[in-house]
Amino acid sequence: MLTCEQVAAQATDYMEATAPLPRRLGIWAHLRICPNCREYLRQLAQTIGLLQRSPTPPPDTATEDALVALFAAQPKRD
Ligand SMILES: [Zn+2]
Repeated sequence: MLTCEQVAAQATDYMEATAPLPRRLGIWAHLRICPNCREYLRQLAQTIGLLQRSPTPPPDTATEDALVALFAAQPKRD
């Protein structure tokens, strides 16, 4: 049985269905018996939903040019 820490660490992969099936089944089994992790995933889903509904607009051209100039002026580190 997975621990709550393991479920939390893999929650995003589980929700995006990118985790392998055996791992998703392990998480699903844990969620059946753990109300804390169910609540955690519910809140995570809510947060992801909010972020997807309010995308950050791209910067305007003047801001983009200023950022490019700023990065170009940074001293090289190597
Ligand atoms: Zn748990």
